[in-house]
Amino acid sequence: MKVTFWGTRGSIPTPGARTSLYGGNTACVEVRCGGEILIFDAGTGIRELGLALTNEFLGEPLTLHLFISHTHWDHIQGFPFFVPAYEATTTLHIYGSPGQGRPLEKLLVGQMDPDYFPVGFGDLESAVRVHEYRGGEFRIGEATVTATYLNHPGMCLGYRVTHGGKSLVYATDHEPYRATLPHVGQRGEEGWEFGQVLDEELVRFVAGADLYIGEAQYTDEEYRGRIGWGHSSLSSTVGVALKGGVRSLALFHHDPMHSDETVSEMLQKAKRLIAGQRSSMECFAAAEGLVVEV
Ligand SMILES: [Zn+2]
Ligand SMILES: [Zn+2]
Repeated sequence: MKVTFWGTRGSIPTPGARTSLYGGNTACVEVRCGGEILIFDAGTGIRELGLALTNEFLGEPLTLHLFISHTHWDHIQGFPFFVPAYEATTTLHIYGSPGQGRPLEKLLVGQMDPDYFPVGFGDLESAVRVHEYRGGEFRIGEATVTATYLNHPGMCLGYRVTHGGKSLVYATDHEPYRATLPHVGQRGEEGWEFGQVLDEELVRFVAGADLYIGEAQYTDEEYRGRIGWGHSSLSSTVGVALKGGVRSLALFHHDPMHSDETVSEMLQKAKRLIAGQRSSMECFAAAEGLVVEV
């Protein structure tokens, strides 16, 4: 599998000199496996991906599989600027969870309402098919994609792709349950214990992955003041990766307040944590434009 990071930032785009190394565009990751093109999230990074695909395929028929983790802005805001969606030669499959009380398609239509955007979702020239996750797995050619719900405000999915004996997990916008359950008043100690049980589900989901793209939005110090916001600290994500025995961890969904310098410091801290556990797990910070072979 060939993985390209088109957007690595969380929450809001952060263009500028202080983020030029890791990038300012929000979440978008392209995965090529066999002849299939899978895309994870449609943050602002998807705009550049769309231009690259248009250049590469120049009017040829193109089938794309877009997996949405959830419909917070930083994961869908680039979609109206995704050029292949406007081409009649494109078949675009969109996968994701229904929202809280609204179907996925309605949520996507909503951000292209004329009050927000000049072109409507219904005006897209491509053949769009929306597939809501109802458990089970998606088969895309020779690849299999499974999903799991993450702990984040709203409905948020993490995905695992398996192809040719390799596997990759894309699981961003997640907070450990053991921190949030006691926080929302789930009977203190009991909430913490139940949270630990739920946290094992993510460990099982990432287990043995060749690449785990996981979020590490906050430093451990920052996280203490942001419990319940739906994101992870660096050490908790490194902990999930180590427990799951993954081969390589990509730190993703960089906080908009974090400069390149801060992200680099977090990466060094992650490497110290990994070395402290005598693990040979690889770790890198996802950077816009970076291509990784899995
Ligand atoms: Zn996000
Ligand atoms: Zn979110």
